[in-house]
Amino acid sequence: MKDNRVKQKREANIVSKNNKKNEINKVNGGVFVYTKALTVGELAKELNVLPSEIIKYFFLNRKIVTINQTLDDESIGEVCLQFGYDFKKEEIVAEEDFEKVKIEDDESLLKSRPAVVTVMGHVDHGKTTLIDAIRNSNLVAGEFGGISQEIGAYIKEFKGQKITFIDTPGHEAFSAMRARGASVTDIVVLVVAADDGVMPQTIEAIDHAKAANVPIIVAINKMDVPGANPEKVINELMQHDVIAEKYGGDVMTVEISAKKNIGIENLLDTILVEAEMLELKANPDRYAIGTVLEAELDPGCGPKATLLVQNGTLLSSDYVVVGTVYGKVRRMTNEHNKVLKSATPSIPVSIIGLSDVPLAGDSFMAFPTEKQAKDIASRRKNKKIEEERAANTNISSLDELFDKINEGQLAQINIILKTDSTGSAEAVKASLEKLNNDQVKINIIRAAAGAISESDILLASASNAIIYGFNVRPSAFVKNKAIEEKVEIRLHRIIYALIEEMEDAIKGHMKKEEVEKVLGQAEVRNVFKVSKVGNIAGCMVIDGSIKNTAKVRVLRDGSIIYEGDIDTLKRFKDDAKEVKQGFECGIKILNFNDVRENDIIEAYEITTKE
Ligand code: GDP
Repeated sequence: MKDNRVKQKREANIVSKNNKKNEINKVNGGVFVYTKALTVGELAKELNVLPSEIIKYFFLNRKIVTINQTLDDESIGEVCLQFGYDFKKEEIVAEEDFEKVKIEDDESLLKSRPAVVTVMGHVDHGKTTLIDAIRNSNLVAGEFGGISQEIGAYIKEFKGQKITFIDTPGHEAFSAMRARGASVTDIVVLVVAADDGVMPQTIEAIDHAKAANVPIIVAINKMDVPGANPEKVINELMQHDVIAEKYGGDVMTVEISAKKNIGIENLLDTILVEAEMLELKANPDRYAIGTVLEAELDPGCGPKATLLVQNGTLLSSDYVVVGTVYGKVRRMTNEHNKVLKSATPSIPVSIIGLSDVPLAGDSFMAFPTEKQAKDIASRRKNKKIEEERAANTNISSLDELFDKINEGQLAQINIILKTDSTGSAEAVKASLEKLNNDQVKINIIRAAAGAISESDILLASASNAIIYGFNVRPSAFVKNKAIEEKVEIRLHRIIYALIEEMEDAIKGHMKKEEVEKVLGQAEVRNVFKVSKVGNIAGCMVIDGSIKNTAKVRVLRDGSIIYEGDIDTLKRFKDDAKEVKQGFECGIKILNFNDVRENDIIEAYEITTKE
């Protein structure tokens, strides 16, 4: 009974449909809400005034309009104010695109919600230990009357308040979610070991948090270890624009030992302070909307998903669309396996009852009727199939960027820059940033020395960035990942060429250019010294093929150390024209003798792009 009442009270999430009949142009409590441009006649009807009154108003303001003339937003606003109404334009969102619905609730309907926290940091700095320490502190065995279950998130009650922790540590899950358009995290806790300092994955985590615009709290961990040096950590973080409060910045830092349970309460206090500053609010009196944190096929109960409610309230009897599947919530439990009747904003719950397994990062929404849920799920499925079809032939690329800039649709280009040395990273970054102008901003979300990695691809995918490699090359694995994630990697060897290309992009035109086609890569397994001839690289072709006419470059740890031509290519003792993936070969590079084991020899050709 009680559930029903809540249900009736809840508002549906859909603001308007992309369907003429359902457009809402209404005078609602003094606010005229409209969704599209209107003619003078239409506006007059909506506002319940005579068209002649509107025409007269404009006439008195030295503007001649006719009854069938379409008014722009500014003019509609002017008329509304003239006739005593506020006005608001609502974007038309197709019902099946519910993740795009911008929910704007009246301030009076909003209630505080718990913060959602993700723990990130370098491997072995203590993320898992911290997550466990928080989960277990103050927890009396059996307190919740159930055996705990792993649902991907848990709620920590502290000083009468709740904090939701996502319990997969690290930035992979975080960026995988963002790559799918979901953002669930309000606060990132960055764990840095006091005896180790800022490490590559610390920097990656900072990049991810900044790209997502999520505030960071630094937990300086392992304070119990002799040699712990929190000052060093704070100084190193400053080089990455994470400025601690005591140095005038806005990042709170807490010294802890996750293993010895020291400083944990202080950290939780700090999270509550940050959460309060963020003024996190949602409206519980809506049908729930949120994101899938985890999903799996449970052998006993079928598709099972952990949902994080981000707005509204999910009831145990609701119909939901999750990703492209739908269902009725048959059973809803929390991390202690306790059956719940309802879940309010920021609460993670595990549900069963879906018709199929959704994906982590998918959005979900609850609907009043099964018919609605079924219908919307099927429309989403069709749309996804269409999108996938289109995406296969339409990789997001620099060309697309040019087009978007030309059409004035894009004002910011996100770039990830990987180079052979820290010095060149700084130099290229500085040169690129000089290209910023009033129309287009170049936003370098990561500039670092080192090979292009999988994490770069995920960050690029999550932020719609292009990756520029300067004197570095991606491995075959990373290249495939880039194709999978539809991320473009552009490689350059001369700063000038890279800058020129970006300059052209900003001006919105792309030249026909010489493009290189990578044929394949071979890994050096042995080096044979042959007198009078020199060093021959005994290789295994690990990707594509190597041709004897190709140009080659030698990569060591992802950086280019030599470029030139093949002198001889052999299969056993015979000269070969081409050696394909999975076969061994001997390569002698012209005028280059310093080949070593584990080097990668990459073969390529130059062609002209039409
Ligand atoms: P993760 O890779 O970041 O999840 O790191 P783990 O939580 O697995 O911790 C890595 C290692 O550091 C483990 O051996 C932990 O026991 C240890 N460790 C974690 N926190 C502390 C701490 O506060 N003090 C000390 N001395 N060791 C810690």
